Amino acid sequence: MSDRVAVVTGSARGIGRAVALRLAADGFRVVVSDLPGSEGIALVVEDIRVAGGTALGVAADVSDPEEVKTLFERVGAEWGRVDVLVNNAGIARDNLLVRISDAEWAQTIAVNLTGTFLCTRQAIRFMMKQKNGRIINLSSVVGLYGNAGQSHYAASKAGVVGFTRSVAKEYGGRGITANVVAPGYIATAMTEGFSEEAQRQLLQQIPAGRAGTPEEVAAVVSFLASADAAYVNGQVIAVDGGMK
Ligand code: NAP
Repeated sequence: MSDRVAVVTGSARGIGRAVALRLAADGFRVVVSDLPGSEGIALVVEDIRVAGGTALGVAADVSDPEEVKTLFERVGAEWGRVDVLVNNAGIARDNLLVRISDAEWAQTIAVNLTGTFLCTRQAIRFMMKQKNGRIINLSSVVGLYGNAGQSHYAASKAGVVGFTRSVAKEYGGRGITANVVAPGYIATAMTEGFSEEAQRQLLQQIPAGRAGTPEEVAAVVSFLASADAAYVNGQVIAVDGGMK
């Protein structure tokens, strides 16, 4: 596994950071990517190196086609292959439908959905040459069931599911799988701003009675990236503590 390369977007913190650390521990060389100016990139790279892994930090805004192209050119120049792509970068800007501005809608779709497309389009070129690859896209239970105040986020994350299932069908015959991980309520910066009332309501819907951890999401990504998951394709795996 030691020559294999995994690219994880939005991995300067939160779920992406946990995924980067886990895949490095699994033996992948990991590309830690996040927004330009993110101080977390270097910190995660350092964490991986201290733990004995191999990591490369490359900044890129996933919603920018040129930056995404440059990201994969850099990976190609440094390591020459891409075995796993984890499309994790995402934003949530909660707002009621009537208050969502054109810019908020466009930005949410641009990062969560178009970013997933742009990175996949670049990574798949490597994977086709290798006749092997794993694409793992982060959606959300909100993309599966909807949520008040998150119609733009839900639309982007539902789009990720349709996109992933299509990629699975288009490239499944070339040794490439594409699957979705759909987290429920995970304790990260994205959710720490929730009001106490919102947290209480969420916890009532979760049989596990607690928020999940980034490491629990990373464990499922690790499985999908592993040899054991070779025959898992086009699936949506919720990591939500049994949330209803
Ligand atoms: P997070 O803590 O907000 O981390 C997201 C990371 O993505 C941040 O480092 C962020 O950078 C980065 N990012 C934002 N826009 C980007 C862009 N245009 N290009 C590159 N990187 C960008 O979020 P998280 O909770 O770890 O969530 C990770 C993924 O899981 C997201 O796709 C999210 O929608 C999904 N998810 C999370 C939960 C949850 O409960 N936490 C539930 C369901 C789904 P900055 O820090 O600079 O903004």
